[in-house]
Amino acid sequence: MIMKVSVILTSYNKPDFIDRVLKSMVEQTYSNWELLIMDDGSEQDTIEKIQTYLEDERIHLYSRTVHPAKRLLTVRYATLINEALARITGELICYLTDDTVYHQDRLQKMVDVFQSKPHIDIVYSSQRVVHVDKQLVETMSFVREADKILEHASFQVDHCSVMHRRRLLPLIHEKYGQYWDDEAKHWHHADSVFWMRLNQFAAFYPLRDVLDTTYKTPHSFHHLFSSMPYDLIDGTVIEKEGDYYQIASGNLHRIERCWVNEKNRRAIRVPSLCAMKYEIKDMLAVPNYTVVTADHGKTFYYIEDQKKRRFASKRDVQYFQFHSKEIYTISNERLQMYEDGGMIQVSPVFHPPNRRLFKWKQEVYLLMHYTFCRIDPEVVKRFAFYHQPINLYPSQFTLFQEGKPIMPLYMESLQEFDMSLYQTSGRKHSS
Ligand code: UDP
Ligand code: MG
Repeated sequence: MIMKVSVILTSYNKPDFIDRVLKSMVEQTYSNWELLIMDDGSEQDTIEKIQTYLEDERIHLYSRTVHPAKRLLTVRYATLINEALARITGELICYLTDDTVYHQDRLQKMVDVFQSKPHIDIVYSSQRVVHVDKQLVETMSFVREADKILEHASFQVDHCSVMHRRRLLPLIHEKYGQYWDDEAKHWHHADSVFWMRLNQFAAFYPLRDVLDTTYKTPHSFHHLFSSMPYDLIDGTVIEKEGDYYQIASGNLHRIERCWVNEKNRRAIRVPSLCAMKYEIKDMLAVPNYTVVTADHGKTFYYIEDQKKRRFASKRDVQYFQFHSKEIYTISNERLQMYEDGGMIQVSPVFHPPNRRLFKWKQEVYLLMHYTFCRIDPEVVKRFAFYHQPINLYPSQFTLFQEGKPIMPLYMESLQEFDMSLYQTSGRKHSS
């Protein structure tokens, strides 16, 4: 019996790479396979490269489109893999990304194991990992070794180094209601989440040979999203095609250029995907989290949530680390258009402004909507906060509740994930 292998390749705008990926498939020494290319709406340059391979009748292209605002709502490659899994016809399944090449005997060597060892359900192999720069020149590389049977393959084995039997799929579907978990928080490790599911039913059997090479490019998601939290912090100003926008109550609002410069408020650049999930709403005349005066510095207000909060005195403005450079003069008519919000003062009662950094027991917190959210130093840097955290007294810290910590997406999801790793599988070693 010659087993058929279904290979699922997810593709999205890697015109410089896709060719060598597909070439690595057609050059396989083993020939009984089908390749499902799940393309996620790539530009024409990538599609054209794929089309030259479609004459091979083992290769099928499924083109998907997704509304830009929805692209980040699920882990796209996991969503596409789930669609592909409903269409495959092979008994063995493996996965490929558009920046990884299979070595020539990759399929053959893995199939051999399944053919000679009926009790093995999953195999994985060693992988070469190559980092390249923008010019695709190698900057460093290493080998991820496959040398032991793994009961917990998560975070040890890459997406492209695995092959498993199809018979595991219905078991997973029955237990989890789906195959791959495509929840957005798993962007960086949906493969590991799936390995955990596979591990509920079987162990990963190692093949020592290096059977694939994966390339890490500066355009990969890992690089684009490092130090980005899932949500942009309220009040963040971003630059998009020469215009400036501020995040306010979950939407993007355009603001005039005059509100943005190095001295008072910096605009940050974010991956376009991060901004796409926000709707663009009307312009804000005065952006949130701006200090304004209409009487030449006799009184100061903080625009927050499109209301005006008066500072009790100039000393309070200074206490909360606002510099004279960040104070704007606006007309009294403009100021009066804003409803009153609560007063800002240090004492006798502590009424701090929102979106300021505070320090409590060596940790930095951001006050957001009157909750103290611990914020990771990487995020502080990325979001260009340019004031020093303000020290808190115990009585001040306890005034507000603690909110959800703000940390890079990959840390956020790892934290949640680690706990689930400790759930025992309840399955006896089978290999
Ligand atoms: N991908 C996708 N849709 C997207 C972004 C990525 O299908 O909107 C696929 C991409 O083609 C690749 C996989 O997801 O197969 C991982 O993406 P990438 O290589 O950019 O990320 P990283 O290597 O940093 O995990
Ligand atoms: Mg990649």
